[in-house]
Amino acid sequence: MNKVDFRRLQEDLSEPKNIVIVTHRNPDGDAYGSSLALYWFLKKLGHEVAVVSPNDCPGFLKWMPGEDRIHIFEADTEKGIEILRKAAMVFTLDFNAFHRLGEVMEPIMEEIKPVYVMIDHHQQPDDFADFAFVDPSMSSTSEMVYRLIDRMGKAELIDKNIASCLYAGILTDTGSFRFPATTSATHRVVADLLEKGANNSDIYSKIHDVNTYNRMQLLGRALDNMVVLERFHTAYITLSQNELNRYKFQRGDTEGFVNYALSLKNVMFAAIFIEDKKQKIIKISFRSVGGFSVNEFARTYFNGGGHINAAGGRSDLSLKDTVKKFVNILPDLSNELTLPS
Ligand code: 5GP
Ligand code: MN
Repeated sequence: MNKVDFRRLQEDLSEPKNIVIVTHRNPDGDAYGSSLALYWFLKKLGHEVAVVSPNDCPGFLKWMPGEDRIHIFEADTEKGIEILRKAAMVFTLDFNAFHRLGEVMEPIMEEIKPVYVMIDHHQQPDDFADFAFVDPSMSSTSEMVYRLIDRMGKAELIDKNIASCLYAGILTDTGSFRFPATTSATHRVVADLLEKGANNSDIYSKIHDVNTYNRMQLLGRALDNMVVLERFHTAYITLSQNELNRYKFQRGDTEGFVNYALSLKNVMFAAIFIEDKKQKIIKISFRSVGGFSVNEFARTYFNGGGHINAAGGRSDLSLKDTVKKFVNILPDLSNELTLPS
């Protein structure tokens, strides 16, 4: 975090303002967790605050305190535009490029000229922010929001609501504290959140123990479709729109599926290709273990990005052709796709 910027931000927040918090399309636990925690915190500081998300969250996040107050931009675009036009400051959380908002919301963000504050842990941010708190070494945007509050000397304002939102964000973005970005410092933050009222087993349960029978069947289908390319230490999964329909796909149902491919012994690179007939794209998630950067891979070949070990992208080709393209790239990367000796 840049100290000079930080002090200026603190000055900017010293008087009540109209503030909007925006997070990325297809919001995950960290997107909603960090946004809602910041929402409750800024309200405590006396600001007028709104949270805007391009589209709705999966069911397993619906319990979050304040979730019902979030304005869904694609559901009521006119109102969303009105909210954003009135904002003196806009905090952009858990993303670093406007295109991550989707094509409905992106134009208004380009048009308005508020003070933009970016809080994010993804690599290679776009240059739109007046204040950019960017740290790709951080486990989650939620951990960064905790640090921001702490650095402002306001940690005593963290109550049960804020702690629960931050805990949920860190829990989900660290894969339940197992990804390498989880540090001893992350655990210290989490310890403090528990002391401030976050209930760890209750939050875990609300997020993870809410499977439907259909989702389990869809997982079965996904595992059945899994292909292992031993030579490249790579495994991938496909799900067609027909398969999604058969198991009554709901937003969030495929969350975590790609990790099953990555959990195979000797696999260091995993992908899932999910057909979206409505958007006419194939949505792709990439995961890796070790030094192979899926951020670079997604950027280079599939219009995406993210982190070194977790990234996403998209393709306008058919599902079959997307997979073909993917498989044909691998021989060029065979030097990188070797297991460490
Ligand atoms: P997921 O595979 O879970 O959708 O995303 C993995 C990570 O990559 C997340 O941190 C997400 O924010 C990022 N990500 C996913 N899709 C895209 C994309 O299309 N572009 C960029 N820049 N990042 C993405
Ligand atoms: Mn995140």
